[in-house]
Amino acid sequence: MVSIDLMDFETRAIHEGQEPDPATGAIITPIYQTSTFVQESVGEHKGFDYARVNNPTRTALQRCLASLESAQHGIAFSSGLGATTTIMHLVDPGERVVLIADVYGGVYRMTSQVYEPKGYRFDYLPAADFANLGDHLDDNTRIVWVESPSNPLLNIVDIRAAADAAHAAGALLVVDNTFATPYLQRPLELGADIVVHSTTKYLGGHSDVIGGFAATSDPTIAERLYFLQKSLGAVPGPFDCWLVLRGIKTLALRMEKHCENAMAIAVWLQRNAGVEHVYYPGLPTHPGHAIAARQMRDFGGMVSFLAESPEEAAELVTRTKLFQLAESLGGVESLIEIPARMTHASTASAPFAAPPNLVRLSVGIESTEDLILDLEHALKPAAVRA
Ligand SMILES: *Cc1c(COP(=O)(O)O)cnc(C)c1O
Repeated sequence: MVSIDLMDFETRAIHEGQEPDPATGAIITPIYQTSTFVQESVGEHKGFDYARVNNPTRTALQRCLASLESAQHGIAFSSGLGATTTIMHLVDPGERVVLIADVYGGVYRMTSQVYEPKGYRFDYLPAADFANLGDHLDDNTRIVWVESPSNPLLNIVDIRAAADAAHAAGALLVVDNTFATPYLQRPLELGADIVVHSTTKYLGGHSDVIGGFAATSDPTIAERLYFLQKSLGAVPGPFDCWLVLRGIKTLALRMEKHCENAMAIAVWLQRNAGVEHVYYPGLPTHPGHAIAARQMRDFGGMVSFLAESPEEAAELVTRTKLFQLAESLGGVESLIEIPARMTHASTASAPFAAPPNLVRLSVGIESTEDLILDLEHALKPAAVRA
């Protein structure tokens, strides 16, 4: 039989790192709910000694997700921000990190309110300026931090060009691949040094777990991240690892439907008179469309749009029935929210604050027709609706 690591994505998503349990033959990797492991003699054990350092359920997740990201090493965390704060420990005070300006609100809160007061330096670069990224880097820049597509404006960054510019300046390129998932985009294949995920989103896929992940093929970075994982302790529990492992098995199928629905909705929104602007990289009018088409398999399940006014935005999100008003994204069910007042409230005073009339959709895998009917009802002028 062909070795598993030569097999296709869909196959590895189901089998990589998940041999039948050696003790019982259980086909599903068990939830190893244990804090410690018995040793035969001092230091002589089966590869596991203490569950913050290592746990078989976590190891299965790390092997599977690393394989899907075309990485040699995978390191699982308690949350996307747990992964982010651990990666930030690759940077020393005084060193500089350059981030895409519309970075995830929680990352901005961390950089501006936790690390900056300790003497770390952060600069935020609008996506359009990544075309001249090299001009914005110096010898002191340790990390370039990119999201593509970004949250919530769905900006696209050319990952290969960003990697080249970062490397020319002696910096690492970190890509938050949460919105795309490895099914649609694999940043390490495009030259990135580290990929980071909130597995809470598409990888878990069912809105029932908080988790994070980092992957790299650089052995020095990997060794440091494993060391930081056990030393800082932002580790996921075995049940959470098991939920993400189960979610990943259907990732390919789910992403196909997320993308199909999101494209249909983006096209429909563009024709709607109550919508000022639609942000979706799958639309040929999107400024990043050509790059997205080159570096992604498809364009993802997130769509943002500008309503006529902030008041109308706040009202329409209460009128949808299928699109539930909630933060988060990437689950099978559709969600709607106002970034300026919910997920990105922490960036309100920043120069790149989300527009107050911006509405963000996490398009689920329900029927396309039902989702469009739901939006049609919510977007109609009040008189017509009544
Ligand atoms: C949600 C999210 C995070 C943070 O992840 P948590 O699991 O909530 O800690 C980071 N980046 C992006 C793009 C996200 O959507």
